[in-house]
This record gives sequence, C-alpha cells and structure tokens, in this order.
Amino acid sequence: MQAQLKQYFGFDSFRKGQEETVKSVLSGRSAAAIFPTGSGKSLCYQLPALMLPNLTLVVSPLVALMKDQLSFLQSKHIPAAALDSSLTFNETKAIWADLRAGKTKVLMVAVERFKNERFRQSIKNIPISLLVIDEAHCISEWGHNFRPDYLKLPSYQAEFGITQTLLLTATATPVVIEDMANKFNIAPQDIQTTGFYRPNLHLNIKAMPEAQKYDFIVDYLSKSARFKPIANQYREADANNSAANNVMGAQGSHACPTIIYVTLQKNAEDLATKLKHDGFNAVAYHAGLASDLRSTIQNAFMDDKVDIIVATIAFGMGVDKSNIRNVIHFDLPKSIENYSQEIGRAGRDGNVSDCLTIVNKERLNVLENFVYGDTPELQDIHFVLQDIQSQSNTEPLNEWHVQLYRLSQECNIRQLSLKTLMVYLEMRGIIKPKYSYFAEYRFKLLVAMDVIEAAFNGERLEFVRAIFDASDKKKIWWQLNFDNIFEQYNHNGNGAQRGRVITALEYFSDKGWVELEAKQMTEVFDVSDNTFFVAKVAKELTDTFVQKQDVEVARIHNMLKLFERPQCLSNQLSLYFGDKAAPSHCGHCSVCHGNIVHYPQCSTPDLPSSETLKELSKPFLTSYQADQFKLPSAELLTKFLCGISVPLFTRLKARKIDNFARLENNSFSEILSISRLILSD
Ligand code: ADP
Ligand code: MG
Repeated sequence: MQAQLKQYFGFDSFRKGQEETVKSVLSGRSAAAIFPTGSGKSLCYQLPALMLPNLTLVVSPLVALMKDQLSFLQSKHIPAAALDSSLTFNETKAIWADLRAGKTKVLMVAVERFKNERFRQSIKNIPISLLVIDEAHCISEWGHNFRPDYLKLPSYQAEFGITQTLLLTATATPVVIEDMANKFNIAPQDIQTTGFYRPNLHLNIKAMPEAQKYDFIVDYLSKSARFKPIANQYREADANNSAANNVMGAQGSHACPTIIYVTLQKNAEDLATKLKHDGFNAVAYHAGLASDLRSTIQNAFMDDKVDIIVATIAFGMGVDKSNIRNVIHFDLPKSIENYSQEIGRAGRDGNVSDCLTIVNKERLNVLENFVYGDTPELQDIHFVLQDIQSQSNTEPLNEWHVQLYRLSQECNIRQLSLKTLMVYLEMRGIIKPKYSYFAEYRFKLLVAMDVIEAAFNGERLEFVRAIFDASDKKKIWWQLNFDNIFEQYNHNGNGAQRGRVITALEYFSDKGWVELEAKQMTEVFDVSDNTFFVAKVAKELTDTFVQKQDVEVARIHNMLKLFERPQCLSNQLSLYFGDKAAPSHCGHCSVCHGNIVHYPQCSTPDLPSSETLKELSKPFLTSYQADQFKLPSAELLTKFLCGISVPLFTRLKARKIDNFARLENNSFSEILSISRLILSD
C-alpha cells in the first residue's frame, strides 16, 4: 500500500485514519471515514479504486464537488470520469464507452442522477466494486444539509448489487454517525474518526448591535488587508504545527481570500455593493443568480481575482480553495453544524485563518422564519394524500406518478419539503418507489433512417420500425409516443417494453445515429394499500413536520448558547462532534483570549394590534381571493406578512403586493395567533 501511495499519488506516508480506512475497504468491508475538512478523505477511496477489480462509483450532493477530485485523479493518470448534465453528447458517449469497456476506475455522479431511468438501466450492466458516498452526513435527517435523495442510497446499493460502501464526511455528531452506520451496515471498528479540532482556525465570536456591524467589518477588513504582520504573531503560537510554519510568508500574493456569510440574498447584494463602494474587491453570490454567473464568480474567487465573496449559504459546498484566510459570519449561522461546515472552509492549507462571527439577537426572527417556511400546512399535506389515493384508484392501478415541480406548485409545498414529505410517506410504507422515467423522450436523426434500419433484421427490424412509426414527427425532433408503441407493437406486452424502447434508443444514440433528449422526470411509486385515512395521516405528518421545525428552531438557540458559554470554543465544538481529544484551552479563540460574549440588549419590534394587522393584510387578501375565491389560511397570511416564500407566492407575484415581508422582524408564531383571530372574525 505504501508503495502504491508513493507510486500513484507521490505521497510519502498516510495521514491519520487513511491507512485504517483503506485496509477495511480492501478487506472487503464497508467503512466510514470522519475526518476534518482538508485532511484527505478522498484518498480513502482513490487508493482502493486502483486495487479493486471493478468500478468505484462516487456519489456526491453536487456536481461541482466532483470537479477537483476529478482533475486530481486525471493529473495522476488514473482513469476517472464524472457524468453531469453539462457534458456534450459526444463526451457522454465517450464516458459510457469507457465504462462498458471496463477502462474507467472511478466514476463520479451527483445523487440526482440515480433518479434517471436511462442512467440506472445503463449502470446496472456495469460491475461495481465500491460505492462511495461523499458528504455522507446528508443522509441523516437529524443532521443539517439533509438531502432526501440520500435516504434512498441504501436501496440503490441493493438494486445495483454493490456489496461495499464507504462513507466520507467531516461533520457528523455521534448520533448522526450511528444513524449512518446502521443504514449501511458498518461495524464500529470500521469507522475511523480522527478528531474535529483544527489548530489553525482562530475562532472569534463578537457581540454587537446590528447598527455597528458594518463599520466594524470595514475596519476589520482594512486591517486584514495588511494581515501579514498580524499573521506572523500567530506563527509563534503555532510553532509546533509544522503546516503553520510556512504561514503567510510563503504566499507572495496580497490577496486575502474572504467569505462573508449573510442570511438573505438581498443582504448579500446590499453588503457587497457597500463594500465595493468602500473600495473592497467584493462580489455577491447567492442561489438567485444565474448559474453561469455563479460559476464565473466562483472561478474568479478561486483564481484570486476577487478577494471577498459576500454569500448566502448557497456558497461553499464544492469550493475547494485552500487559502481562504477569513470566514466571516456577518449574520448568525443556522446551527452549530452549519457554523462548523462554513468555518471549515477556511485554511484548508493548514495555515492560520480567522473565523469571525458577529452576533446579536436582533434579527433572530428572520432566521427562525426560514424554518417556518419549510413546514407544510395541514391542508397542503391533505392535498398530496388525496392525490395519491385518487391516482392509485385509476389506471394504472396502485401507482402514483409525480413530477416534483408540478406537484409543488399544485400543493404549495416547497420542493425540498415535498421531497421530505415523500420520504416520510415512504418510511410509513404508504408509497414505495418503483422507478422513474422521463415523461418525454425526443430524438433527432443524425443519419438517414434506412442507415439505421439496415443494421437490423427480423423481429428486431420490426420493432425498430414500430418505434419510428409511433413517434410524432416535428420538423427536426421526433417525439417518442409510448402509448402508440404499446398499441401498435405487442409482441411481449409485459411492461418491459418501455425499457426495451429506451434501450434501443440508447443504442441508436451510442452509434451516433440519433441525438437523444429526455425531459419531465417522473417518479413512480407503488401504492398497494391506499385505504389509509387521509385526515389522520395528514394530521400525523403535520405533527412530524412541526416537531422537525421545533428541532430546527432549537438548533439556533443551542448555537447561541454555545457562543456565550465561557468555555474554549474550539473545545466545545470538538466535544459536540464527539472529539474528546481536543485541548481544553486552544489558546487561540475569543474565549481563550478572555472575550466572553454578552448579547447586547435588543428591543423586539412592537406586536401589531388586530386592527393594524387587518389593514396590513388587505392587499394580500384581495389578490388571494381574486385567484382562489376563498380566504387564505392563517399560516399563509402570516407567511406573506413575514416574507416567507412558498410556491403559490410566485404565481401570485406576492413580492409585488403591498406589505409583503412587512413584519419580517416579528415572531412568526405571534403574528400567526393574530392572523387566526382576524380570519375567524
Ligand atoms: P477532504 O475531502 O478530507 O476535505 P481531500 O481529500 O480533498 O480532503 O484532501 C485534501 C488535500 O490533501 C488534497 O490536496 C490531497 O491531495 C492531500 N492529501 C491527501 N492525503 C495525503 C497524504 N497522505 N499525503 C499528502 N497529501 C495528502
Ligand atoms: Mg472532500
């Protein structure tokens, strides 16, 4: 193993935890590596991938996360590929050809790809030695960053006949680790945890009123720009940390890569504009920007052309920049887990980096309101359950077909919450995932039709002709019409036909005869018992969501408590993630420097009277009633007034209606009580 490590990767020795993990994997067992960010989790699959007989399939939550690992592997001449939607037709084709020829050692995909019927059909025929799950904490409902799609990975593992799994993550509490280990049958001795403590991160929590934050940050950043001498002081303190010895000095550049986190997209824009105006090289980044603009900004930051990114939490995952020197939380993070992930992006090169968090409780309601927006209402869950019952009572019987975007619009539940709801329904056994398909396939002929037909004879030729005959021909694109094919061609009416049609088209596309395009992803669930009581189940699920909401709100408060405790911050964080080996006094956090947080007094905004609330509600009530011919629920009205977006608001153009978000600084639950009063009048 040592020899391979040197030969392929040029590394002299293993880092902590790597050798043990690689050994577990090479002994044929599933394993988990829980190491801090930047400590070399990827190597735990990269080395085994070279020695295992078949493919190593790496799953991650984001396409962007794979890019660096891919270029790393390619730079080491290890045959690796990533499948994502940005690839051209020919690139995708080449990747599949290599996979089928068994040339590829590592294939990386984003988790969404598994829902793709074409992908699943193709990957099933390729032998896989190891399934790697990067950012594995996304599987746990009890952690942050929960990705409902991740919950299905154990069943995909079974479906593809993969016998071994390797989980990789940096932030997992003991509860989350246990949860993950259960789901993938990982024995305790195959779980490597190397500790959470990062000696090069200097944590600083600073309490101040909202109104002082901007001036403070300008001053702080100006000092940071001259940071080299400041950093040198740290060098002594960390003299025994070898990585820290080549601190800043080694870097010639004067750039001081900084991420500033804020809560809202609007705040990211505003803050970036102000900073630019004050002479800083700052750019805003959030999920509301077009995706090519986002990648342009990210690349500029990677190349040190932009010093400061002012971002919402949309920025970070997949940003593998080793020399980020400052991570600043201008607004409160969402939880201890989020805080840890976000500060974890600083100083991956091991050099000293600063993590400043500015705290107060003035905008606590805004943060909490985010959570409320994710809680679906009873009536909306009711709608989904009824949809399941009525669909499963009609042909095709016992099936529920879902297009996420469309259902989300219809039931007014945010997509992420809807995915979560579907997972809950799955866990209750009400629905069982069967398969997913693209409702629409279309193709463009790249060669004359007789060239294609000439390649077949007998029954196969008839089948190929049936596909063409049954398609609706537009100018360039031919729309596949499955119903027509089923009707016209019935040699083995056993439902496998759809698969056969797609396989045939895949084959045409592989041959370069057609260009194939698939749209409208539809998930199909089995509903073999639809006798459940809608009202009862809806109520229970609503309770579950409310519980989840309360847990999320409690997370915010737990974080606030952690920040104000007079105990070493590095130590508290390490303990939270189950690392008992961290020093009890790190010597380089604000608590160790004697600065304990005292949240400044803040006045909560006045609670409006029911008269005022009635007035404020009028514009929304008018628009809503014009559209829906009834009164909104109290929850919906409250969401409007507190500025919490739900799918329906997009259609109603609610942001343009007077008083949207007018009460965003108020507490959701207080406004909800008053809304209930005025609506029941
Ligand atoms: P993580 O996923 O844990 O955040 P990565 O796997 O991206 O970290 O690794 C961080 C860096 O450490 C990479 O540049 C990688 O090449 C390097 N690295 C990994 N293992 C070793 C090793 N044994 N010796 C030297 N460098 C290593
Ligand atoms: Mg990683």
